Amino acid sequence: MVMQGSVLEGGADVVKLLDVLLLGRARFHELSMRGRVMLSQLPANLTLLLVLVVVAAAAPEKLTEPAFVAGQAIAVLLLVLSGSLPWERLPYGSFLVVPFLDFIPIGLVQASASDRLPGLAFLALFPIMWVAGSGYRPRLMVPLSGAAALAMVWTPLFLAGTPDPRVLAGHLLAPFMLLAVGVGTSVMTLSGMAQQARVEELLAQAENRERLLDAVLETVDVGVVVIDTEGRGTFTNTKQVEVYAAAVPTEEEGPETGMMIYRDGSEEALPPEQWALERALAGERVEHEIFRLGRGRDARTVSVTARDFLDADGGLAGTVLASSDVTDVVHAVRARDRFLSTLSHEFRTPLANILGYAELVADDPDLSDGSRADIQVIARNAQHVASMVDELLVVAVTGAGAAVRLPLDVAEIVREAAESSAASASVRGIRLHAETDGALMVLADRTGLVRVVDNLVSNALKYSGAGTEVRLRAARDGRWAVVTVEDRGIGIAEEDLVHIFTRFGRSDGVLGEDIPGAGLGLALSKEVVERHGGSLECASRVGEGSTFTVRLPLRGEPR
Ligand code: ADP
Repeated sequence: MVMQGSVLEGGADVVKLLDVLLLGRARFHELSMRGRVMLSQLPANLTLLLVLVVVAAAAPEKLTEPAFVAGQAIAVLLLVLSGSLPWERLPYGSFLVVPFLDFIPIGLVQASASDRLPGLAFLALFPIMWVAGSGYRPRLMVPLSGAAALAMVWTPLFLAGTPDPRVLAGHLLAPFMLLAVGVGTSVMTLSGMAQQARVEELLAQAENRERLLDAVLETVDVGVVVIDTEGRGTFTNTKQVEVYAAAVPTEEEGPETGMMIYRDGSEEALPPEQWALERALAGERVEHEIFRLGRGRDARTVSVTARDFLDADGGLAGTVLASSDVTDVVHAVRARDRFLSTLSHEFRTPLANILGYAELVADDPDLSDGSRADIQVIARNAQHVASMVDELLVVAVTGAGAAVRLPLDVAEIVREAAESSAASASVRGIRLHAETDGALMVLADRTGLVRVVDNLVSNALKYSGAGTEVRLRAARDGRWAVVTVEDRGIGIAEEDLVHIFTRFGRSDGVLGEDIPGAGLGLALSKEVVERHGGSLECASRVGEGSTFTVRLPLRGEPR
């Protein structure tokens, strides 16, 4: 092409244009406006060139006919115009001048040569399809192009003298067919444009959602990192970088120190394969796990949870790891646990003793009425304080603070419960045994769990007679830590088993025997255990005893 260099913006555009023509990778819409106009004009010119060759062979006398020559010349001129006018600077739609002007050379060529080459009027398909395919004001432009086609075939008839209406009618067919093609092209173009608009809308929506997600992820106070299945990080928010900065060794510590990630309570840095990230990638379950990042005063405590996410086909796409900075919360929870543990042991044990001995003294037949009344006052007040302590503990195990879970050893809690109940067991003449086998690490609210075990043990003692035995056991069963509290006491009737776990539910047996209690302990215990993802069950026979079983998920078991 002679005018490539001057007409198109640089060689790249020419290459692209050729690529579009040869049905390569480049697409029409990627071309510049000039490239597009030129490419739309080119088919008409190439076909007219072919007509020239055919005419030269079949009817050489036509080659000198002024109309034929003018037609070919105007067509070339239009191609030059298409490639040289700055279409992008002209108002959109102005390029349609070219296809409308195309009707002139096509009309001239068909008028001069159609007697030898019939069907030349169909060359007008090119401008018609261009007009319709542009999608620009189709309701006006498509009929206009049909009218132009009609004008093209009728004009020579008028120029040759007043035509017979029947001749005019005979020449209606070709313009009508051209119009039909124009309408068909327009329908398809408009449908394509509507689809494209929809795709663009969806794309815009997706982009908006992504921007919203970005904003949310940057706003939340949680460090978020997204990893694909190959372990590559695909997203990290600022908070994540901030939180984990504590784990990066300082210059004094030197780079050989490695990332300072510790298990809570340990001073030994974890090897990478034990980091939450690596374990989550290896398919392990990571939920609310506590890690300490860094050392000294700047150390942060984080609670890490990992979640897999799936792609549109349901396959594993990667893992999202969320780390929240719980340094202050963990400090507060530890302080609260210490306080509640003191409250429960330092207050409840002596209070239980005061109540027990007050009962013993009150039973003394030699006691004067006045002293008995005094003792009852002591017992009532001690009972009052005991129930206030209980209420405090209830609030503690159900309140918002109970949502924070730290790793703890269930076996240790069972041993502590046995120790703290030893005195009241011996007062009642009951043998209390505890068997534990190895550490059973779970993620739990310490105060809640201690309350559950204490409550089961105190029930076992309360509802058993002297000379019997209460056995505590903590063992592992698959991915569960299992605590059993077994007694040889009064037992529970089958029909009562369903009620004892409801608030204020008490068995008929104890109601009859006037054993004190509010019937709140088991309901609360069940609530606490279930909130930890576990279960609390009871197997019992009247007169033979009861076995309460607590199951809690062990920490860090595979998903
Ligand atoms: P409380 O002991 O204060 O009544 P709980 O919720 O701890 O409340 O227990 C509910 C009921 O379950 C008790 O009232 C009692 O009827 C029954 N129960 C609980 N533990 C035992 C046990 N080890 N042996 C017999 N009955 C029990």
